[in-house]
Amino acid sequence: MSGEYDVVVIGGGNAAFCAALSAQENGARVLVLEAAPKDEAGGNSSFTAGAMRVAYNGVEDLSKLMPDLTEEEKANTDFGTYTEDQFFDDMGRVTQYRTNPDLAELLVRRSFDTLLWMRSKGVRFVPIYGRQAFKVDGKFKFWGGLTVEAWGGGPGLVEALTDSAGKRGIEVWYESRAVSLIHDDDGVHGVKVKRGGKTIPVSSKAVVIASGGFEANSEWRTRYLGPGWDLAKVRGSRFNMGDGIRMALEIGAQPYGNWSGCHAVGWERNAPEFGDLAVGDGFQKHSYPFGIMLNATGRRFVDEGADFRNYTYAKYGRVILEQPGQFAWQIFDSKVTHLLRDEYRIRQVTKVTANTLEELTAKLDDVNAEAALAEIEAYNAAVRQDVPFNPNVKDGRSTEGLAVKKSNWANTIDAPPYEAYAVTCGITFTFGGLRVSQEAAVLDMEGTPIPGLFAAGELVGGLFYFNYPGGTGLTSGAVFGKIAGASAVKAAQKAAE
Ligand SMILES: Cc1cc2nc3c(=O)[nH]c(=O)nc-3n(C[C@H](O)[C@H](O)[C@H](O)COP(=O)(O)OP(=O)(O)OC[C@H]3O[C@@H](n4cnc5c(N)ncnc54)[C@H](O)[C@@H]3O)c2cc1C
Repeated sequence: MSGEYDVVVIGGGNAAFCAALSAQENGARVLVLEAAPKDEAGGNSSFTAGAMRVAYNGVEDLSKLMPDLTEEEKANTDFGTYTEDQFFDDMGRVTQYRTNPDLAELLVRRSFDTLLWMRSKGVRFVPIYGRQAFKVDGKFKFWGGLTVEAWGGGPGLVEALTDSAGKRGIEVWYESRAVSLIHDDDGVHGVKVKRGGKTIPVSSKAVVIASGGFEANSEWRTRYLGPGWDLAKVRGSRFNMGDGIRMALEIGAQPYGNWSGCHAVGWERNAPEFGDLAVGDGFQKHSYPFGIMLNATGRRFVDEGADFRNYTYAKYGRVILEQPGQFAWQIFDSKVTHLLRDEYRIRQVTKVTANTLEELTAKLDDVNAEAALAEIEAYNAAVRQDVPFNPNVKDGRSTEGLAVKKSNWANTIDAPPYEAYAVTCGITFTFGGLRVSQEAAVLDMEGTPIPGLFAAGELVGGLFYFNYPGGTGLTSGAVFGKIAGASAVKAAQKAAE
């Protein structure tokens, strides 16, 4: 046995480090096992923008999370509120009321305190001006319940957590892939780890699994999400192969949640197979509510303006995957190009521009140009001109009479120059996973906690179904990571008695 730890945490992302910091603050000797080498560490958490959904009752609460907010920022910004009730309602609505209410309640009610706790561990937060606020009459107004991001985005978040762990004596082993749990009828007693070409046992009194979902595993994707999912691009880490889920299932853990569901978005058509940390989330293309999307047959196929972007983007990747050839073109005219997010201005885009619609549609690779032109013309004729366009609210400026309606932000596409961007499906993370108690204990087939085994992050099943409110993944990892770390210490103390 390689030393004796109180708690071993499997994974090196946000959930894992929150669990490790929480276990350490409760007095444990902690080891973090990260499969990736240091320069690829941090899992999907490293690929994020660091956006975190948190309940708050106004700018006073936000000032506690972000004491650096200046008086000028407070005066020039309408931060609004995002109450626990609103957060809870969003979880219910976007998951079609499938979310486990006990888990969702923990997520919502602990969100603010958990972010405050992260601050105490050295994570800094700032308002997401760039992506979640528009300027109206000289004042920024936040929308969509998403207001806070970690300073430095995902890489900044992972760096802050890693530094904090280092300062507190938490050991981290990189290039150390957990392969199985050491287990008997009394519970879990450690982890077998593949390190430097050797498989070694690491003994511990409790284990927290925080090794992400199975989004990087093309075979599991096809098996559980369905045919075609092997063709999706992976937005983030190549290390999230479902290992933690598999290990737990092998010792009798209960599968739970939306195993056929995942978070998937519109993503640069020619992006690499896995995420590229140098580009981060720049391959995503999230401004479709202000334009239209056409498939290979030249037809629109989804209501681009059904809701605010952060309530639709996570389910529209699947819709794009279902199109012929698994791609679509997003089309904008010059009336809205100033609203396009910064990710449209990176070098690695598949983009065409034109001064007429005829020229534009002819340039759309793999698209029936004639049908595309007719589709845009029919769309233009269906836009309601009597309702003013307003990107900050669901403006009700819709189309009328089309088979595929656009419900909000419907502007005609008639002001050159035109721009079009090619997208495919990029999978973010899978929704199915393990069943946990409110103490983040992994439950067995009978619903009884497996002694010494806890879980946090993407692999917790039962929170997300079909869809997901943007910015909830990191918050979920933090909330359940903190709980799992503390619960693991209690289990370790019990094991030591
Ligand atoms: C491009 C992109 C942008 C995103 N933007 C946001 C956002 O702004 N806000 C938000 O809330 N969410 C966002 N998400 C989702 C978010 O990344 C995840 O919900 C969250 O990071 C999951 O955290 P986690 O700690 O559970 O998993 P991860 O951060 O993925 O960590 C899993 C860790 O486990 C390690 N691992 C895997 N297998 C093993 C093994 N066998 N042994 C040891 N280690 C192992 C991995 O290397 C990794 O370090 C985004 C995701 C992507 C891909």
